[in-house]
Amino acid sequence: MKFTPAKPSLHGETLDSLGTRLAEAGEPAYRARQILDWLYKKRATRWDQMTNLSRPLRAWLADAFELEPTALVLDRQSEDVTDKLLLELRDHSLIETVIIRAPQEGVGLDQSRKTICISTQVGCAMGCVFCASGLDGLKRDLSAGEIVHQLIQVCRREDAHTSRARAELASFDNIVVMGMGEPLHNYDNLLRAITILNAEWGLGFGARRITLSTSGLVPRILQLAAEPVGFRLAISLHGATNAVRERIMPINKRWPLEELLPAVQTFSEKHGRMVTLEFILIEGVNDTPDQAARLRDIASGLHAHVNLIPYNTVDGLPWKRPSLAHQQEFLAVLQDRGVSVTLRREKGHDIDAACGQLRLKTEQDRTAGPAA
Ligand code: SAH
Ligand code: SF4
Repeated sequence: MKFTPAKPSLHGETLDSLGTRLAEAGEPAYRARQILDWLYKKRATRWDQMTNLSRPLRAWLADAFELEPTALVLDRQSEDVTDKLLLELRDHSLIETVIIRAPQEGVGLDQSRKTICISTQVGCAMGCVFCASGLDGLKRDLSAGEIVHQLIQVCRREDAHTSRARAELASFDNIVVMGMGEPLHNYDNLLRAITILNAEWGLGFGARRITLSTSGLVPRILQLAAEPVGFRLAISLHGATNAVRERIMPINKRWPLEELLPAVQTFSEKHGRMVTLEFILIEGVNDTPDQAARLRDIASGLHAHVNLIPYNTVDGLPWKRPSLAHQQEFLAVLQDRGVSVTLRREKGHDIDAACGQLRLKTEQDRTAGPAA
């Protein structure tokens, strides 16, 4: 689904594409670097901060590009280690960006390792039955600039809170593409955004510290396998047989396990990287010993790491997480055969950290209108 904003976002431009636009306006190529420096090294929020550019050039830029494609509308801090930003786009759509801290001994929270979870679409077309993001279907893709700008918002916020040296380009350690949307359903914009995050003229953020999670668009996984990308891949498996997976993930009907798993294998072999299999534990759906045993076999076959995630309840949906004891029994089946596996301790439940929930609530409040 396409969205054509009134103006393209400057954060969606590469050094080359910006250079080309500037050349059309009669400006020398080196200006592109100066401008990108204002975005990524100095985090400018206004055109008039770009003092080494002439007034006419600033006016031309303001006319040609959007400088702030997202606006921070809510900054919710959780009592544990997960904070959540609600961002509004120019068309008033809402997206979420989450900051997850991993506390380290002897280190203050402001210096702990931070993982940023970004969104790639407004809504999602994949219709997984347990997920808040897909409840209203897909509204639209995010542009490359809107994807990149989520991280600029985080950088600004962290710059204000951190005691780290300001010279550091990114004040976080990892990016996971696990927010709202199916990243591989917005392939071109996502890859462009990653190029910008990666580039030395951009955020200078290493691709190896970026993990992309997909519900399993097989042709796109194969396309990715053929590209020289350096990021990590995670697969939302959530069912170790077609019967179970198909019940909760409609995409499995289009690309069942016998197509998905070889595609994952191809990616893993081409890139020489361990792939992660994500498996949400949902009570009475996929938490049986049989599912655990089959998941173990799939993971062994792919030399994949397994991330078990206790389900986060979603308002209005019937699914629940299994008891802790039951989660641990499931874990033990995988550990018994030496599969690399982690059981995720939940973070941010108190601020609706599960994919899409904060946005869903805000949308519902908007629809309901002000309370009488
Ligand atoms: N669309 C991509 C990435 C975004 S979802 C994908 O599906 O992989 C990121 C992860 O959150 C996925 O593994 C998804 O299945 C999981 N998820 C969605 N809703 C959840 C919930 N309520 N509780 C726990 N995990 C959830
Ligand atoms: Fe979309 Fe991922 Fe949610 Fe499925 S789990 S609906 S693919 S965001």
